[in-house]
Amino acid sequence: MHPIEIYKFGGASVKDATAIRNAAQILKSTSQRPLVVVISAMGKTTNALEELIRAHYNDPTLISGLVSKLKAYHEEVAFELLADEATGLMADLHDLWVELNWILEEEPHPNYNYHYDQIIVFGELASTKIVSAYLAKEGITHQWLDARGIIKTDGEFREARILWDLTQSAVDTIVRPSLDQSGMAVTQGFIGSTVYNESTTLGREGSDYTAAVLAYALDAESVTIWKDVPGIMTGDPKRFDKVARLEEISYQEAIEMTYYGAKVIHPKTIKPLQNKNIPMYVRPFDNPSLHGTKISAAESDFLPPIVVVESDQVLLEIATRDFSFVAEEHLSEIFTRVAALRIKVNSMRNTALSFMLCVRNEKDKLEKLKQELTARYHISIREGLELITVRHANQKFLDQLEKGKDIILEERFGDTDQFIVKSEK
Ligand code: ASP
Ligand code: MG
Repeated sequence: MHPIEIYKFGGASVKDATAIRNAAQILKSTSQRPLVVVISAMGKTTNALEELIRAHYNDPTLISGLVSKLKAYHEEVAFELLADEATGLMADLHDLWVELNWILEEEPHPNYNYHYDQIIVFGELASTKIVSAYLAKEGITHQWLDARGIIKTDGEFREARILWDLTQSAVDTIVRPSLDQSGMAVTQGFIGSTVYNESTTLGREGSDYTAAVLAYALDAESVTIWKDVPGIMTGDPKRFDKVARLEEISYQEAIEMTYYGAKVIHPKTIKPLQNKNIPMYVRPFDNPSLHGTKISAAESDFLPPIVVVESDQVLLEIATRDFSFVAEEHLSEIFTRVAALRIKVNSMRNTALSFMLCVRNEKDKLEKLKQELTARYHISIREGLELITVRHANQKFLDQLEKGKDIILEERFGDTDQFIVKSEK
């Protein structure tokens, strides 16, 4: 078999009929086969489904309106793409909505995360049905595969971990033969299933990770993520004037950037690729002739300053109620709670009488943490912050960046500078 490539199209690249035509054009113009195409839910569908799930628990009167909106959105795109050839696709979509309505007619499951995953997968199932039908119309030979039969995971709903052995054998028995037969397989990102075939998901924005898992299991030649940006940039163009595209970065640099909050790829994506030395490209879908950014094992000697901003941060200041020093036993108690609530600590600092944690403003989790710790600790929460991380900074760059900012905490380690600052609103 020829070397396999993986393409991933995110929500923005399939958000409407024009975007889907463009994606199909990219698939048509490449002679690369075998090709696995991983697709996200259309546009903001996953957010809309999250709203639907909340309504199921909190206000069922909203359900029918929300489902109608989702249905109309998908059907409009389907009609625009297929017109009078849409009958088969409409029947497929209809089956999905019927199945979704069955779930919504029952009482919501007591386990929120489980229930979430049973519903959220409809976004990816619907988008891939639409894209697949359009590709067929355009004469692009391929097979549609249900990723839940391939990506096998544990039962940690909403953040499922890959069961590698089972996934590998599913890839060998399902994906490889499909590629042998038709040269192209189209499947969903983000979703998988347990050994009991319950739907699971890999965490928000997890489609990139799906692409990497498949690349690993197929020993792919490369992975290409088609996005609405020219590549990986030195900073967010919406925030900074002088940003540039990074031509090439190492796996290590990409891991660091995503760890500190760079949104361009899902943080879990890089590791499986690095383990098999599979390069990844981030390329602009609106200008497919550009080569974007390459991520590979090659280390660059020189990298410009790279800025990553994580917004919506809070600083928790935790002090003991008896004014004793915050000692190791306190830290271990605090961290046990933090870990159990799955709060990700972005930065921390201890002083004589308090311990500070910078985390994302996830209100329910923070409220719970506060409740659990309140007997022994006084906790104050400072909101409206952001965490700015700069890699490979020079002094001039830092001076420029710090200008006019209200800096609350600052830290330097090796090639990384971090600032917790008040958000500019
Ligand atoms: N549709 C999912 C999300 O919006 C997964 C993805 O887009 O990668 O989070
Ligand atoms: Mg997305």
